[in-house]
Amino acid sequence: MAIERERLDADVLIVGAGPAGLACALRLAQLFEKHTAEGRSPALSTENVYILEKGREIGAHQLSGGIMDPRALRELLPDFASAPPFDTPVGEDGAFFLTSQNSFRLPITPPPLENHGNYVVSLSRVAKWMGGLVEKAGANIFTQFSGASLIFEGGGIAGVITEDKGVDREGKPKDNFTRGYELRAKVTVLAEGTRGSLTKEAVSTLRLDGINPQIYGIGIKELWEVPEGRIAPGFVAHTLGWPLDSSMYGGGWIYGLKANRVSLGMVISLEYHDPLFDPHQAFQNYKTHPFVRKILDGGELVLYGAKSLPYGGWYSAPRPFMAGGLIIGDSGSLLNSQRLKGIHTSIKSGMIAAETIYGALCAGDASEKRLSEYSRSLEASWIRKELWEVRNFHQGFHHGLIPGLVNAGAQFVTHGRGFVDPLRSLPGHLEYRKLDRPLEMVDQSHRFKGDGKLTFDRLTDVYHSGTRHEEDQPCHLVVLDPSICIDRCVREFGNPCQYFCPAAVYEMALENGAPRLKINASNCVHCKTCDIADPYQIINWIPPEGGGGPNYEGM
Ligand SMILES: Cc1cc2nc3c(=O)[nH]c(=O)nc-3n(C[C@H](O)[C@H](O)[C@H](O)COP(=O)(O)OP(=O)(O)OC[C@H]3O[C@@H](n4cnc5c(N)ncnc54)[C@H](O)[C@@H]3O)c2cc1C
Repeated sequence: MAIERERLDADVLIVGAGPAGLACALRLAQLFEKHTAEGRSPALSTENVYILEKGREIGAHQLSGGIMDPRALRELLPDFASAPPFDTPVGEDGAFFLTSQNSFRLPITPPPLENHGNYVVSLSRVAKWMGGLVEKAGANIFTQFSGASLIFEGGGIAGVITEDKGVDREGKPKDNFTRGYELRAKVTVLAEGTRGSLTKEAVSTLRLDGINPQIYGIGIKELWEVPEGRIAPGFVAHTLGWPLDSSMYGGGWIYGLKANRVSLGMVISLEYHDPLFDPHQAFQNYKTHPFVRKILDGGELVLYGAKSLPYGGWYSAPRPFMAGGLIIGDSGSLLNSQRLKGIHTSIKSGMIAAETIYGALCAGDASEKRLSEYSRSLEASWIRKELWEVRNFHQGFHHGLIPGLVNAGAQFVTHGRGFVDPLRSLPGHLEYRKLDRPLEMVDQSHRFKGDGKLTFDRLTDVYHSGTRHEEDQPCHLVVLDPSICIDRCVREFGNPCQYFCPAAVYEMALENGAPRLKINASNCVHCKTCDIADPYQIINWIPPEGGGGPNYEGM
């Protein structure tokens, strides 16, 4: 029997208030204003633009290293630089190679890591600022609401169903139960960022896959306040090498912010071979390197967070249009993994999407054919040019650091072509090597504890992420077949979910002497690593009740 829901109709529904979604809304507002001033028809109003954001407020789920290439924002809002989030232009920058005790500065900073002209920002603050402009322009932002499922219609999408609120852990309605809304729109824009749950649904249902599967990295970040004089605002360092071995793709960053704050973190590709590798611990070890320690010693951890990021690039991009829908930003695989930058491409893709949508609304036509204009405009834009030059970059590191660097050199001189084009890749979860002997299943006493000053265990870090969820709700981490965890995974891979999750969500525990997978869902920082990195692909991350999750204000 069909469930009765309240239905709301919009012209445009944007799912996700990150840089992509907010730029789309702002560009629509600009176009609608001009349209109205010129007395054109049909009447178009930002009141009919809806934006859904699962975070408790705009910016709460924004996490980035924090260097922003201003190219797109300058096109969207030419005066952006006078706004408060842009008070730290990049000053000195350098690239370093670390061994376990030493650091070597590369004589020249490789061009992709050069950052002059860019800004060190808190992406959360940038999103908050953009969100304020969107609200001022009259669009409707619904924070604490998740798009829970898509409405498929006419070979495309027609809107989303938001999550039911006030459901207990058994799935029964509580006193505050509210049925999710049916939000319909002429055009629905998927701007969910990395591994979007609705985007995943759209890509598999409508078969929108790119020519390569998506490959992801996990990024783990801490924000510190350090004693005066340790690091200049605008100082930017990127590091390669220790503590990652040369079979792994990843590196670290240290960026200086105002008020003696430091953004530091590591990104690690989720295609490593050792199923017991622990990215959180690797990052904690990173901080003990003399190069990093000398900046942090005597300082204090302010915030912690983790988030995945799509590394696959142009060849992993899904077809970004369908009848009634578009995919933008990280959901559309538009991050440049060579530069570790996706804020500028996300903003630009949002702007291009808005221009396509405006044309569609004026023509009264949101068909697949009409919306394919978005794809053509992307192809004609600087996004395509930038991503085409690095289209085989990440895939080149499949056999390790040295072959990857050789490939990168070849790609540099051949404008992205390299030795083989396209370089094919596998999804990262197929890269684990099976264990050669079973482990003691439940004993976790060896897990990293940290010293509580410079290094921390995962629970202490989660505490610093501001993560909060309604406890009495259905688990949003759906393990499709838990028997696999106990019967196979422990033997074959040692339950890697216990290691790759940077928030201590997954734990094998004994219950009445029998092993059981315990899921501490309220720790979840929404990084989506489990959905990506589970070797059997049986973990399905779905949005919890809106408003749950981390609070990255200032990240
Ligand atoms: C560790 C790390 C470091 C990075 N460093 C940099 C850097 O220095 N410079 C740079 O340019 N880029 C960097 N990036 C990449 C950059 O952060 C992203 O490319 C950019 O944020 C993508 O923007 P977006 O709007 O597509 O997605 P996001 O910023 O992820 O925003 C998506 C929003 O959608 C919301 N959402 C998701 N699903 C739903 C749903 N179903 N319903 C409602 N809301 C939903 C999320 O809560 C989120 O707020 C980094 C990324 C990571 C993870």
